[in-house]
Amino acid sequence: MISLATLREVLPPFTRGLRFRLTVSYIVLFTVLLVVIGMLFRGVLKAETEGQVGDLLEEQWGAAKGYVKIENERPYWFADFTDPEEADTVARLRNVLLLTDDLGNVLLDSPIYRSIGIDSPAEIQRVIRNGPIVRTRYDANGVPYMIKAGPMPDEHHKNRYFFALGRSLEASHKTVTQFTQTYFLFLPVMIALTGVLGWWLAGRAIEPVNSVAQAAQSITGSNLTLSIPLRNAGDELDNLIDNFNKMTVRLAQSFEQIRQFSTDVSHELRTPLTAIRGQLEVALFTAESQEQYRDAVVNALEAVEQLSSIVRQLLLLSQAESGQLALQKTAIDFGELVRDVTDQFQIPAEEKEITLKADVAPVKVAGDRTQIERLVSNLLSNALKYTPVHGSVSVRVSKNAIDPMACLIVEDTGVGIPPENLPHIFDRFYRVRNPQTNQIEGLGLGLSFVSWIVTAHGGKIDVKSSVGKGTRFTVQLPEAGAGSIFAPMVVTPPVAGDSQPERTETRVH
Ligand code: ADP
Repeated sequence: MISLATLREVLPPFTRGLRFRLTVSYIVLFTVLLVVIGMLFRGVLKAETEGQVGDLLEEQWGAAKGYVKIENERPYWFADFTDPEEADTVARLRNVLLLTDDLGNVLLDSPIYRSIGIDSPAEIQRVIRNGPIVRTRYDANGVPYMIKAGPMPDEHHKNRYFFALGRSLEASHKTVTQFTQTYFLFLPVMIALTGVLGWWLAGRAIEPVNSVAQAAQSITGSNLTLSIPLRNAGDELDNLIDNFNKMTVRLAQSFEQIRQFSTDVSHELRTPLTAIRGQLEVALFTAESQEQYRDAVVNALEAVEQLSSIVRQLLLLSQAESGQLALQKTAIDFGELVRDVTDQFQIPAEEKEITLKADVAPVKVAGDRTQIERLVSNLLSNALKYTPVHGSVSVRVSKNAIDPMACLIVEDTGVGIPPENLPHIFDRFYRVRNPQTNQIEGLGLGLSFVSWIVTAHGGKIDVKSSVGKGTRFTVQLPEAGAGSIFAPMVVTPPVAGDSQPERTETRVH
Protein backbone atom coordinates (compact mmCIF):
# COMPACT_ATOMS: atom_id res chain seq x y z
CA MET A 1 0.00 0.00 0.00
CA ILE A 2 1.23 3.49 -0.88
CA SER A 3 1.35 5.79 2.13
CA LEU A 4 0.06 9.35 1.95
CA ALA A 5 3.59 10.72 2.32
CA THR A 6 4.89 8.65 -0.61
CA LEU A 7 1.92 9.70 -2.70
CA ARG A 8 2.68 13.33 -1.96
CA GLU A 9 6.24 12.86 -3.18
CA VAL A 10 5.20 11.11 -6.37
CA LEU A 11 2.62 13.71 -7.36
CA PRO A 12 3.79 16.90 -9.13
CA PRO A 13 4.42 19.90 -6.82
CA PHE A 14 1.34 21.87 -7.89
CA THR A 15 -0.90 19.15 -6.45
CA ARG A 16 0.37 20.04 -2.97
CA GLY A 17 -1.04 23.55 -3.21
CA LEU A 18 -4.15 24.70 -1.42
CA ARG A 19 -5.70 25.78 -4.72
CA PHE A 20 -5.46 22.29 -6.16
CA ARG A 21 -6.82 20.70 -3.02
CA LEU A 22 -9.73 23.12 -2.86
CA THR A 23 -10.57 22.45 -6.52
CA VAL A 24 -10.48 18.69 -6.00
CA SER A 25 -12.76 19.09 -2.99
CA TYR A 26 -15.19 21.16 -5.11
CA ILE A 27 -15.19 18.52 -7.84
CA VAL A 28 -15.70 15.58 -5.48
CA LEU A 29 -18.47 17.40 -3.66
CA PHE A 30 -20.26 18.47 -6.83
CA THR A 31 -19.95 15.02 -8.39
CA VAL A 32 -21.48 13.34 -5.36
CA LEU A 33 -24.19 16.00 -5.26
CA LEU A 34 -24.99 15.71 -8.97
CA VAL A 35 -25.12 11.89 -8.87
CA VAL A 36 -27.44 11.98 -5.85
CA ILE A 37 -29.68 14.60 -7.50
CA GLY A 38 -29.71 12.56 -10.76
CA MET A 39 -30.70 9.37 -8.95
CA LEU A 40 -33.36 11.24 -7.04
CA PHE A 41 -34.87 12.74 -10.22
CA ARG A 42 -34.74 9.38 -11.93
CA GLY A 43 -36.66 7.80 -9.05
CA VAL A 44 -39.28 10.54 -9.06
CA LEU A 45 -39.70 10.35 -12.86
CA LYS A 46 -40.06 6.56 -12.76
CA ALA A 47 -42.63 6.69 -9.96
CA GLU A 48 -44.56 9.45 -11.75
CA THR A 49 -44.74 7.76 -15.20
CA GLU A 50 -45.48 4.33 -13.75
CA GLY A 51 -48.15 5.95 -11.57
CA GLN A 52 -49.86 7.27 -14.69
CA VAL A 53 -49.78 3.80 -16.31
CA GLY A 54 -51.14 2.35 -13.07
CA ASP A 55 -54.07 4.80 -13.03
CA LEU A 56 -54.99 3.92 -16.65
CA LEU A 57 -54.66 0.20 -15.90
CA GLU A 58 -57.00 0.59 -12.93
CA GLU A 59 -59.56 2.30 -15.17
CA GLN A 60 -59.28 -0.44 -17.82
CA TRP A 61 -59.56 -3.18 -15.22
CA GLY A 62 -62.85 -1.73 -13.97
CA ALA A 63 -64.17 -1.41 -17.56
CA ALA A 64 -63.03 -4.93 -18.56
CA LYS A 65 -64.97 -6.50 -15.71
CA GLY A 66 -68.12 -4.95 -17.20
CA TYR A 67 -67.43 -6.26 -20.71
CA VAL A 68 -66.31 -9.81 -19.90
CA LYS A 69 -69.16 -12.17 -18.93
CA ILE A 70 -68.99 -15.92 -18.21
CA GLU A 71 -71.89 -18.27 -18.77
CA ASN A 72 -71.61 -22.03 -18.40
CA GLU A 73 -67.85 -21.78 -18.08
CA ARG A 74 -67.71 -19.91 -21.40
CA PRO A 75 -66.55 -16.28 -21.53
CA TYR A 76 -67.97 -13.75 -23.99
CA TRP A 77 -67.68 -9.99 -24.60
CA PHE A 78 -70.76 -8.10 -23.57
CA ALA A 79 -70.31 -5.15 -25.95
CA ASP A 80 -71.84 -3.45 -28.94
CA PHE A 81 -69.23 -4.10 -31.62
CA THR A 82 -71.14 -1.97 -34.12
CA ASP A 83 -70.22 1.05 -31.98
CA PRO A 84 -66.68 1.85 -33.23
CA GLU A 85 -65.72 3.50 -29.95
CA GLU A 86 -66.79 0.48 -27.88
CA ALA A 87 -65.20 -1.91 -30.39
CA ASP A 88 -61.97 0.08 -30.10
CA THR A 89 -62.07 -0.04 -26.28
CA VAL A 90 -62.62 -3.79 -26.26
CA ALA A 91 -59.80 -4.27 -28.79
CA ARG A 92 -57.45 -2.39 -26.46
CA LEU A 93 -58.56 -4.42 -23.45
CA ARG A 94 -57.92 -7.65 -25.35
CA ASN A 95 -54.36 -6.59 -26.07
CA VAL A 96 -52.82 -7.95 -22.83
CA LEU A 97 -55.35 -10.19 -21.15
CA LEU A 98 -55.81 -13.55 -19.44
CA LEU A 99 -58.88 -15.30 -18.03
CA THR A 100 -58.60 -18.72 -16.45
CA ASP A 101 -60.69 -20.88 -14.14
CA ASP A 102 -59.43 -21.75 -10.67
CA LEU A 103 -57.51 -24.76 -12.01
CA GLY A 104 -55.52 -22.60 -14.44
CA ASN A 105 -57.39 -23.64 -17.60
CA VAL A 106 -57.17 -20.71 -20.01
CA LEU A 107 -60.58 -19.39 -21.06
CA LEU A 108 -59.42 -16.18 -22.71
CA ASP A 109 -55.97 -14.81 -23.52
CA SER A 110 -53.92 -12.65 -25.86
CA PRO A 111 -50.68 -13.34 -27.75
CA ILE A 112 -48.82 -10.78 -25.69
CA TYR A 113 -49.90 -12.37 -22.42
CA ARG A 114 -48.82 -15.70 -23.79
CA SER A 115 -45.43 -14.20 -24.54
CA ILE A 116 -45.27 -12.87 -20.98
CA GLY A 117 -46.15 -16.32 -19.69
CA ILE A 118 -49.38 -17.82 -18.37
CA ASP A 119 -49.46 -17.83 -14.58
CA SER A 120 -49.05 -21.15 -12.80
CA PRO A 121 -52.15 -22.77 -11.21
CA ALA A 122 -50.65 -22.18 -7.76
CA GLU A 123 -50.21 -18.48 -8.49
CA ILE A 124 -53.74 -18.30 -9.91
CA GLN A 125 -55.22 -19.95 -6.84
CA ARG A 126 -53.28 -17.64 -4.54
CA VAL A 127 -54.65 -14.54 -6.35
CA ILE A 128 -58.23 -15.94 -6.27
CA ARG A 129 -57.83 -16.54 -2.56
CA ASN A 130 -55.98 -13.34 -1.52
CA GLY A 131 -57.32 -10.72 -3.91
CA PRO A 132 -55.85 -8.46 -6.65
CA ILE A 133 -52.14 -7.79 -7.12
CA VAL A 134 -50.15 -5.46 -9.42
CA ARG A 135 -46.70 -6.39 -10.73
CA THR A 136 -44.28 -5.75 -13.58
CA ARG A 137 -43.50 -8.57 -16.01
CA TYR A 138 -41.58 -8.80 -19.27
CA ASP A 139 -42.55 -10.40 -22.59
CA ALA A 140 -40.22 -12.52 -24.70
CA ASN A 141 -38.70 -9.33 -26.25
CA GLY A 142 -38.01 -7.81 -22.87
CA VAL A 143 -40.81 -5.25 -23.11
CA PRO A 144 -42.09 -4.42 -19.58
CA TYR A 145 -45.79 -4.62 -18.75
CA MET A 146 -47.71 -3.60 -15.68
CA ILE A 147 -50.12 -6.45 -14.93
CA LYS A 148 -53.09 -6.24 -12.61
CA ALA A 149 -54.49 -9.68 -11.71
CA GLY A 150 -57.46 -10.45 -9.48
CA PRO A 151 -60.34 -12.85 -8.84
CA MET A 152 -63.56 -12.76 -10.93
CA PRO A 153 -66.88 -14.16 -9.57
CA ASP A 154 -69.10 -16.72 -11.33
CA GLU A 155 -72.91 -16.34 -11.64
CA HIS A 156 -73.22 -17.37 -7.95
CA HIS A 157 -70.91 -14.51 -6.94
CA LYS A 158 -68.23 -16.95 -5.93
CA ASN A 159 -64.65 -16.04 -6.87
CA ARG A 160 -63.89 -18.83 -9.25
CA TYR A 161 -61.98 -17.19 -12.08
CA PHE A 162 -58.64 -15.48 -12.48
CA PHE A 163 -58.62 -12.31 -14.51
CA ALA A 164 -55.45 -10.37 -15.48
CA LEU A 165 -55.02 -7.24 -17.57
CA GLY A 166 -51.83 -5.49 -18.60
CA ARG A 167 -50.48 -2.22 -20.01
CA SER A 168 -47.14 -1.65 -21.59
CA LEU A 169 -44.59 0.23 -19.50
CA GLU A 170 -42.32 0.69 -22.52
CA ALA A 171 -43.01 4.39 -22.96
CA SER A 172 -42.53 5.05 -19.24
CA HIS A 173 -39.26 3.10 -19.11
CA LYS A 174 -38.05 4.79 -22.28
CA THR A 175 -38.61 8.23 -20.76
CA VAL A 176 -36.68 7.23 -17.63
CA THR A 177 -33.85 5.65 -19.64
CA GLN A 178 -33.63 8.68 -21.89
CA PHE A 179 -33.44 11.00 -18.89
CA THR A 180 -30.75 8.84 -17.24
CA GLN A 181 -28.66 8.63 -20.40
CA THR A 182 -28.86 12.36 -21.13
CA TYR A 183 -28.16 13.27 -17.51
CA PHE A 184 -25.17 10.99 -17.09
CA LEU A 185 -23.85 11.96 -20.52
CA PHE A 186 -23.76 15.59 -19.45
CA LEU A 187 -22.40 14.76 -15.99
CA PRO A 188 -18.70 14.73 -17.06
CA VAL A 189 -19.26 18.04 -18.86
CA MET A 190 -20.82 19.51 -15.72
CA ILE A 191 -17.97 18.11 -13.59
CA ALA A 192 -15.40 19.58 -15.97
CA LEU A 193 -17.15 22.97 -15.76
CA THR A 194 -17.23 22.67 -11.97
CA GLY A 195 -13.51 21.95 -12.04
CA VAL A 196 -12.79 25.09 -14.10
CA LEU A 197 -15.07 27.17 -11.88
CA GLY A 198 -13.57 25.63 -8.74
CA TRP A 199 -10.02 26.35 -9.95
CA TRP A 200 -10.97 29.96 -10.65
CA LEU A 201 -12.82 30.40 -7.33
CA ALA A 202 -10.03 28.74 -5.33
CA GLY A 203 -7.52 31.02 -7.10
CA ARG A 204 -9.56 34.06 -6.09
CA ALA A 205 -9.89 32.83 -2.51
CA ILE A 206 -6.17 32.13 -2.21
CA GLU A 207 -4.95 35.29 -3.92
CA PRO A 208 -5.11 37.41 -0.73
CA VAL A 209 -3.26 34.66 1.18
CA ASN A 210 -0.50 34.80 -1.42
CA SER A 211 -0.30 38.56 -1.18
CA VAL A 212 -0.14 38.28 2.61
CA ALA A 213 2.65 35.72 2.27
CA GLN A 214 4.52 38.05 -0.10
CA ALA A 215 4.12 40.98 2.28
CA ALA A 216 5.22 38.79 5.19
CA GLN A 217 8.32 37.79 3.23
CA SER A 218 9.39 41.40 2.94
CA ILE A 219 9.26 41.81 6.72
CA THR A 220 12.63 41.16 8.27
CA GLY A 221 14.17 41.71 11.69
CA SER A 222 15.27 45.18 10.67
CA ASN A 223 11.96 46.41 9.27
CA LEU A 224 9.51 44.88 11.70
CA THR A 225 7.49 48.07 11.73
CA LEU A 226 6.24 47.19 8.21
CA SER A 227 2.65 46.10 8.43
CA ILE A 228 0.49 44.25 5.90
CA PRO A 229 -2.35 46.50 4.71
CA LEU A 230 -5.83 45.33 5.75
CA ARG A 231 -8.26 44.53 2.90
CA ASN A 232 -11.21 45.90 4.90
CA ALA A 233 -13.30 42.85 3.99
CA GLY A 234 -13.90 42.12 7.68
CA ASP A 235 -13.31 38.42 7.03
CA GLU A 236 -11.10 35.76 8.63
CA LEU A 237 -8.18 36.81 6.46
CA ASP A 238 -8.40 40.40 7.69
CA ASN A 239 -8.49 38.98 11.19
CA LEU A 240 -5.35 36.96 10.41
CA ILE A 241 -3.58 40.02 8.92
CA ASP A 242 -4.60 42.09 11.94
CA ASN A 243 -3.23 39.47 14.35
CA PHE A 244 -0.08 39.12 12.24
CA ASN A 245 0.45 42.91 12.36
CA LYS A 246 -0.10 42.92 16.12
CA MET A 247 2.43 40.10 16.42
CA THR A 248 5.05 42.06 14.46
CA VAL A 249 4.40 45.07 16.71
CA ARG A 250 4.99 42.86 19.75
CA LEU A 251 8.11 41.42 18.11
CA ALA A 252 9.34 44.92 17.31
CA GLN A 253 8.83 45.86 20.97
CA SER A 254 10.73 42.78 22.12
CA PHE A 255 13.56 43.53 19.67
CA GLU A 256 13.64 47.08 20.88
CA GLN A 257 13.77 45.91 24.50
CA ILE A 258 16.62 43.53 23.71
CA ARG A 259 18.46 46.22 21.81
CA GLN A 260 17.91 48.63 24.68
CA PHE A 261 18.99 45.92 27.11
CA SER A 262 22.27 45.42 25.24
CA THR A 263 22.91 49.15 25.47
CA ASP A 264 22.04 49.13 29.18
CA VAL A 265 24.19 46.08 29.91
CA SER A 266 27.14 47.62 28.07
CA HIS A 267 26.58 50.80 30.01
CA GLU A 268 26.28 48.97 33.34
CA LEU A 269 29.38 46.92 32.59
CA ARG A 270 31.36 49.91 31.39
CA THR A 271 31.17 51.72 34.76
CA PRO A 272 32.88 48.97 36.82
CA LEU A 273 35.22 48.18 33.89
CA THR A 274 36.35 51.80 33.68
CA ALA A 275 36.84 51.76 37.44
CA ILE A 276 38.96 48.59 37.27
CA ARG A 277 41.03 49.99 34.43
CA GLY A 278 41.51 53.29 36.30
CA GLN A 279 42.58 51.52 39.48
CA LEU A 280 44.98 49.22 37.60
CA GLU A 281 46.51 52.22 35.81
CA VAL A 282 46.94 53.91 39.19
CA ALA A 283 48.65 50.77 40.51
CA LEU A 284 50.86 50.53 37.44
CA PHE A 285 51.85 54.12 36.79
CA THR A 286 51.26 56.34 39.79
CA ALA A 287 51.21 54.26 42.98
CA GLU A 288 54.39 54.60 44.94
CA SER A 289 53.75 53.26 48.37
CA GLN A 290 52.45 49.84 49.30
CA GLU A 291 49.44 51.62 50.82
CA GLN A 292 48.55 53.16 47.45
CA TYR A 293 48.95 49.81 45.69
CA ARG A 294 46.65 48.21 48.25
CA ASP A 295 43.95 50.91 47.87
CA ALA A 296 44.01 50.57 44.09
CA VAL A 297 43.65 46.78 44.27
CA VAL A 298 40.83 47.00 46.86
CA ASN A 299 38.95 49.50 44.66
CA ALA A 300 39.49 47.31 41.61
CA LEU A 301 38.17 44.31 43.53
CA GLU A 302 35.03 46.22 44.52
CA ALA A 303 34.42 47.02 40.87
CA VAL A 304 35.00 43.35 39.98
CA GLU A 305 32.43 42.41 42.62
CA GLN A 306 29.99 44.88 41.05
CA LEU A 307 30.66 43.34 37.63
CA SER A 308 30.14 39.78 38.76
CA SER A 309 27.00 40.81 40.56
CA ILE A 310 25.48 42.06 37.30
CA VAL A 311 26.46 38.88 35.48
CA ARG A 312 25.12 36.78 38.35
CA GLN A 313 21.78 38.56 38.21
CA LEU A 314 21.42 37.88 34.50
CA LEU A 315 22.30 34.25 35.02
CA LEU A 316 19.93 33.93 37.94
CA LEU A 317 16.97 35.31 36.04
CA SER A 318 17.51 32.98 33.14
CA GLN A 319 17.81 30.06 35.60
CA ALA A 320 14.65 31.17 37.39
CA GLU A 321 12.69 31.49 34.19
CA SER A 322 13.88 28.16 32.83
CA GLY A 323 12.76 26.43 36.07
CA GLN A 324 16.27 25.49 37.25
CA LEU A 325 16.06 27.49 40.43
CA ALA A 326 14.60 25.30 43.16
CA LEU A 327 13.03 26.87 46.22
CA GLN A 328 13.82 25.73 49.73
CA LYS A 329 10.70 26.63 51.64
CA THR A 330 10.73 27.04 55.40
CA ALA A 331 8.60 28.96 57.88
CA ILE A 332 10.09 32.46 57.92
CA ASP A 333 9.34 35.24 60.36
CA PHE A 334 8.37 37.64 57.61
CA GLY A 335 8.09 40.71 59.87
CA GLU A 336 11.61 40.21 61.19
CA LEU A 337 13.03 39.56 57.72
CA VAL A 338 11.48 42.77 56.34
CA ARG A 339 12.78 44.75 59.31
CA ASP A 340 16.32 43.39 58.75
CA VAL A 341 16.29 44.20 55.04
CA THR A 342 14.89 47.68 55.75
CA ASP A 343 17.71 48.26 58.22
CA GLN A 344 20.26 47.50 55.49
CA PHE A 345 18.75 50.32 53.45
CA GLN A 346 18.88 52.93 56.19
CA ILE A 347 22.35 54.20 55.20
CA PRO A 348 21.59 54.69 51.49
CA ALA A 349 18.27 56.29 52.50
CA GLU A 350 20.02 58.71 54.81
CA GLU A 351 22.55 59.56 52.11
CA LYS A 352 19.64 60.59 49.95
CA GLU A 353 17.84 62.26 52.84
CA ILE A 354 14.86 59.97 52.44
CA THR A 355 12.80 58.98 55.47
CA LEU A 356 12.59 55.18 55.55
CA LYS A 357 10.10 53.76 58.07
CA ALA A 358 9.09 50.15 58.78
CA ASP A 359 5.97 49.05 60.62
CA VAL A 360 5.89 45.27 60.83
CA ALA A 361 3.52 42.81 62.48
CA PRO A 362 4.71 39.32 63.48
CA VAL A 363 3.61 36.98 60.72
CA LYS A 364 5.20 33.88 59.29
CA VAL A 365 5.33 32.96 55.62
CA ALA A 366 6.22 29.70 53.93
CA GLY A 367 9.08 30.67 51.68
CA ASP A 368 12.65 30.49 50.49
CA ARG A 369 14.55 32.97 52.68
CA THR A 370 17.05 34.01 50.02
CA GLN A 371 14.37 34.70 47.47
CA ILE A 372 12.05 36.48 49.90
CA GLU A 373 14.98 38.71 50.94
CA ARG A 374 15.65 39.39 47.27
CA LEU A 375 11.99 40.33 46.75
CA VAL A 376 11.90 42.83 49.64
CA SER A 377 15.32 44.13 48.72
CA ASN A 378 14.37 44.76 45.07
CA LEU A 379 11.17 46.59 46.01
CA LEU A 380 12.97 48.75 48.57
CA SER A 381 15.85 49.41 46.21
CA ASN A 382 13.42 50.64 43.56
CA ALA A 383 11.48 52.74 46.06
CA LEU A 384 14.69 54.54 47.06
CA LYS A 385 15.96 54.75 43.47
CA TYR A 386 12.83 56.37 42.11
CA THR A 387 12.17 58.71 45.07
CA PRO A 388 13.89 62.10 44.90
CA VAL A 389 15.70 63.62 47.86
CA HIS A 390 13.65 64.53 50.92
CA GLY A 391 11.00 61.99 49.99
CA SER A 392 9.79 59.15 52.15
CA VAL A 393 9.48 55.39 51.85
CA SER A 394 7.33 53.31 54.17
CA VAL A 395 7.31 49.55 54.58
CA ARG A 396 4.45 47.69 56.30
CA VAL A 397 3.87 44.05 57.07
CA SER A 398 0.48 42.82 58.28
CA LYS A 399 -1.72 39.76 58.39
CA ASN A 400 -4.47 39.61 55.81
CA ALA A 401 -7.80 39.85 57.67
CA ILE A 402 -9.64 37.44 55.35
CA ASP A 403 -7.14 35.03 53.70
CA PRO A 404 -4.24 33.23 55.41
CA MET A 405 -1.79 35.62 53.73
CA ALA A 406 0.95 37.93 54.86
CA CYS A 407 0.77 41.37 53.31
CA LEU A 408 3.77 43.56 52.47
CA ILE A 409 3.32 47.16 51.34
CA VAL A 410 6.23 49.23 50.03
CA GLU A 411 5.10 52.78 49.41
CA ASP A 412 7.10 55.77 48.26
CA THR A 413 6.58 59.42 47.42
CA GLY A 414 8.65 59.10 44.24
CA VAL A 415 8.31 59.88 40.55
CA GLY A 416 5.48 57.39 39.99
CA ILE A 417 4.84 55.23 36.92
CA PRO A 418 2.74 56.48 33.97
CA PRO A 419 -0.42 54.36 33.50
CA GLU A 420 0.65 53.27 29.99
CA ASN A 421 3.87 51.76 31.39
CA LEU A 422 2.29 50.01 34.36
CA PRO A 423 1.23 46.81 32.53
CA HIS A 424 4.84 46.22 31.38
CA ILE A 425 6.98 46.94 34.44
CA PHE A 426 7.21 43.24 35.36
CA ASP A 427 8.47 42.33 31.87
CA ARG A 428 12.11 41.37 31.47
CA PHE A 429 14.37 44.33 30.65
CA TYR A 430 11.46 46.74 30.65
CA ARG A 431 12.32 50.21 31.89
CA VAL A 432 10.20 53.33 31.94
CA ARG A 433 11.96 55.89 29.82
CA ASN A 434 11.16 59.49 30.59
CA PRO A 435 13.14 62.55 31.71
CA GLN A 436 12.57 61.60 35.39
CA THR A 437 13.95 58.05 35.08
CA ASN A 438 16.49 58.34 32.26
CA GLN A 439 19.31 59.32 34.60
CA ILE A 440 18.58 56.43 36.97
CA GLU A 441 20.60 53.34 36.21
CA GLY A 442 19.09 49.88 36.03
CA LEU A 443 18.62 46.87 33.79
CA GLY A 444 14.87 46.37 34.04
CA LEU A 445 15.34 43.02 35.78
CA GLY A 446 14.49 43.78 39.41
CA LEU A 447 10.71 43.56 39.05
CA SER A 448 11.00 40.49 36.79
CA PHE A 449 12.65 38.79 39.76
CA VAL A 450 9.99 40.09 42.13
CA SER A 451 7.24 38.80 39.87
CA TRP A 452 8.90 35.38 39.52
CA ILE A 453 9.46 35.04 43.30
CA VAL A 454 5.85 36.01 44.10
CA THR A 455 4.47 33.55 41.54
CA ALA A 456 6.81 30.76 42.68
CA HIS A 457 5.48 31.22 46.25
CA GLY A 458 1.84 31.18 45.16
CA GLY A 459 1.41 34.85 46.06
CA LYS A 460 0.01 37.98 44.43
CA ILE A 461 1.45 41.37 43.58
CA ASP A 462 -0.35 44.58 42.91
CA VAL A 463 0.92 48.04 42.03
CA LYS A 464 -0.78 51.42 42.24
CA SER A 465 0.97 54.53 41.09
CA SER A 466 0.36 58.19 40.49
CA VAL A 467 2.85 60.17 38.41
CA GLY A 468 4.69 62.74 40.54
CA LYS A 469 3.06 61.49 43.75
CA GLY A 470 4.40 58.01 44.35
CA THR A 471 4.01 54.27 43.99
CA ARG A 472 2.65 51.51 46.20
CA PHE A 473 3.55 47.83 45.71
CA THR A 474 1.39 45.34 47.63
CA VAL A 475 2.64 41.75 47.88
CA GLN A 476 0.64 38.91 49.41
CA LEU A 477 2.40 35.69 50.37
CA PRO A 478 0.85 32.53 51.82
CA GLU A 479 1.22 32.36 55.57
CA ALA A 480 3.18 29.42 57.04
CA GLY A 481 0.54 27.22 58.63
CA ALA A 482 -0.67 23.70 58.99
CA GLY A 483 -1.20 23.35 55.21
CA SER A 484 2.26 24.58 54.14
CA ILE A 485 4.46 22.10 52.36
CA PHE A 486 8.20 22.55 52.73
CA ALA A 487 10.86 21.20 50.44
CA PRO A 488 12.75 18.47 52.33
CA MET A 489 16.21 19.66 51.29
CA VAL A 490 18.08 22.30 49.36
CA VAL A 491 18.26 21.57 45.67
CA THR A 492 20.99 23.09 43.49
CA PRO A 493 22.11 26.42 44.87
CA PRO A 494 21.35 29.08 42.22
CA VAL A 495 24.90 30.30 41.69
CA ALA A 496 28.05 29.38 43.55
CA GLY A 497 28.58 31.77 46.46
CA ASP A 498 25.16 33.36 46.10
CA SER A 499 23.88 32.94 49.61
CA GLN A 500 23.36 36.66 50.22
CA PRO A 501 20.75 38.87 48.58
CA GLU A 502 22.06 40.62 45.49
CA ARG A 503 23.78 43.83 46.48
CA THR A 504 23.45 45.39 43.04
CA GLU A 505 19.73 45.69 43.60
CA THR A 506 20.32 47.47 46.87
CA ARG A 507 22.44 50.20 45.32
CA VAL A 508 20.86 53.64 45.25
CA HIS A 509 21.90 55.85 42.41
P1 ADP B 1 15.20 48.83 36.94
O1 ADP B 1 16.52 48.17 36.97
O2 ADP B 1 15.03 49.70 35.75
O3 ADP B 1 14.84 49.52 38.19
P2 ADP B 1 12.94 47.12 37.52
O4 ADP B 1 12.50 45.85 36.85
O5 ADP B 1 13.23 47.05 38.96
O6 ADP B 1 14.14 47.65 36.68
O7 ADP B 1 11.78 48.17 37.30
C1 ADP B 1 11.21 48.35 36.02
C2 ADP B 1 10.76 49.78 35.86
O8 ADP B 1 9.65 50.05 36.69
C3 ADP B 1 11.80 50.77 36.26
O9 ADP B 1 12.64 51.09 35.14
C4 ADP B 1 11.02 51.97 36.71
O10 ADP B 1 10.73 52.80 35.61
C5 ADP B 1 9.71 51.37 37.19
N1 ADP B 1 9.66 51.35 38.67
C6 ADP B 1 9.87 50.28 39.46
N2 ADP B 1 9.70 50.61 40.76
C7 ADP B 1 9.34 51.90 40.78
C8 ADP B 1 9.02 52.84 41.82
N3 ADP B 1 9.04 52.50 43.10
N4 ADP B 1 8.71 54.10 41.45
C9 ADP B 1 8.70 54.47 40.17
N5 ADP B 1 8.99 53.63 39.14
C10 ADP B 1 9.31 52.37 39.43
